[in-house]
Amino acid sequence: MTQIILKSTIDVEFVDKMGSDQRIVEAMMVSSRGMDAKDFAASLGETGISGRIKYIMNKRHGGPFEQSALQIRVHAPIKVWREWMRHRIGFSYSEESGRYKQLEPIFWIPPPERPMVEAPDFKASNPEFVPADPQTYRLFCWSRRQVYQTAYNEYEANLAGGIDKGLARDGLGVGIFSACYVTCNPRSLMHFLELRTKSVVAKRPSSPLWEINNAANQLEKIFAEHWPMTWELWNANGRMAP
Ligand SMILES: Cc1cc2nc3c(=O)[nH]c(=O)nc-3n(C[C@H](O)[C@H](O)[C@H](O)COP(=O)(O)OP(=O)(O)OC[C@H]3O[C@@H](n4cnc5c(N)ncnc54)[C@H](O)[C@@H]3O)c2cc1C
Repeated sequence: MTQIILKSTIDVEFVDKMGSDQRIVEAMMVSSRGMDAKDFAASLGETGISGRIKYIMNKRHGGPFEQSALQIRVHAPIKVWREWMRHRIGFSYSEESGRYKQLEPIFWIPPPERPMVEAPDFKASNPEFVPADPQTYRLFCWSRRQVYQTAYNEYEANLAGGIDKGLARDGLGVGIFSACYVTCNPRSLMHFLELRTKSVVAKRPSSPLWEINNAANQLEKIFAEHWPMTWELWNANGRMAP
């Protein structure tokens, strides 16, 4: 019997990137400057770059924001991937296979600070939760461990009996971790962040699941580091994607 591992963190790691704030402006300026766009964008300086990004952000000229790319590597529970992969436009995914390899015995367990009990004035349309008291939290974790361990034991028993991995996995549930490479562009990324983060400055507030919000917060930090002006102006724009 393989002992399962309970994991309370989701990993979002930078792999690679193409482009920058300046490249976005370069792509914008090809409209009026043609082949001179690159030299023109390079001559602008921070204020010139920022002013032009602000303009296309406000006017919803979204195309130039597609002229960059970000690649990340993510380790997250299947329940997060179920939501993440609903983002079809401007996202490419390559995921670990449950048909070709044995899935690792790593399962999601919420950290104690994850609000998990329905708040007194709970509404399904705008769900709010509060942290569990220590006993409720312990019981929940204990119950998860039993369920995951039993499911993984059955999975391994199936594999030992020569059952197709693609069938044996069916009983593992959505708490098991899976790894993906994900590539997106700043426009698709801003759209994702608008829907999968909770922010007081959002003009169109969302109520994302805690776990995908946690992953999105990490992704937002990477975005802010590599496209700082675009990130800042998107915030100033009420976090509405252009
Ligand atoms: C809080 C929350 C709760 C949710 N609850 C549910 C739920 O209960 N059930 C459920 O099924 N989903 C649910 N979703 C998923 C949601 O409906 C979207 O599928 C998901 O957020 C991806 O958004 P998107 O389609 O805008 O993104 P993308 O697929 O990346 O699309 C980006 C944009 O492209 C355009 N577009 C893409 N495809 C089409 C198309 N076929 N036709 C026309 N325009 C298109 C749209 O403008 C779209 O906004 C929920 C999402 C959130 C954030």
